[in-house]
Amino acid sequence: MNSPTYLAGVWDTRGTALVQPAALAWGLAAACERLGVRIAERTPATGLAAEADGVRVRLQDGVLRADRVALGTSAFPALVRRLRPYTVPVYDYVLVTEPLSAAERAAVLWRNRQGVADSGNQFHYYRLTADDRILWGGYDAIYHFGRGQRAAYDQRPATFARLADHFLTTFPQLEGIAFSHRWGGAIDTCSRFCAFFGTALRGRVAYALGYTGLDVDS
Ligand SMILES: Cc1cc2nc3c(=O)[nH]c(=O)nc-3n(C[C@H](O)[C@H](O)[C@H](O)COP(=O)(O)OP(=O)(O)OC[C@H]3O[C@@H](n4cnc5c(N)ncnc54)[C@H](O)[C@@H]3O)c2cc1C
Repeated sequence: MNSPTYLAGVWDTRGTALVQPAALAWGLAAACERLGVRIAERTPATGLAAEADGVRVRLQDGVLRADRVALGTSAFPALVRRLRPYTVPVYDYVLVTEPLSAAERAAVLWRNRQGVADSGNQFHYYRLTADDRILWGGYDAIYHFGRGQRAAYDQRPATFARLADHFLTTFPQLEGIAFSHRWGGAIDTCSRFCAFFGTALRGRVAYALGYTGLDVDS
């Protein structure tokens, strides 16, 4: 990688992999449906209660009965209320450049298209897309008072400006490149920075939480 910011790096060829997260989600959904799972999108659950032989899941306009429940609600408020203090929604942001020209690709080297992360406490992570854009994210970790979560928080111009600045420090040879996409979202940051698992309602509800932004690749 041709960048003035690096003295050295470690290339881990066995312990890491790159995934396309949307393809992963669609693939998992298709695999579930092949096994007979019915997926109900846009159906918020508002609470859980124990029943003699199962769990009652309250929905906005009804109830659903289940033998067992697995919760994967990430940064959203946990349905098992006692878990809420253990995670906070912290917003993380990403920029994506326009496709690099052949000359720009040559100027950054990056011969093997690895996923890259620097090792700062507030770190950047980045990758090339199939059409030779650079996806560049990380560094800022924005918490909104009172565990605030809103769709409007998915965009944050101050963070996008900072990320663009850091990008050009890393790749000054790409001065003038445009960013075509920018987005953000909340990650389920755990007070111990480490995922945790457990059960509730006499073992009928299982949860896994606190991946701290590493849910896809951990
Ligand atoms: C900008 C950004 C960059 C990231 N980069 C990386 C990365 O490089 N590598 C990596 O590994 N991870 C990364 N992450 C983190 C990763 O994307 C997430 O951790 C991961 O997508 C979480 O997956 P999940 O299935 O656990 O949760 P989600 O994808 O958040 O799914 C949780 C689902 O639960 C639903 N839900 C919540 N509460 C309820 C309820 N009460 N009733 C019904 N449904 C409910 C939500 O609607 C949602 O669909 C990034 C995150 C962001 C925001």
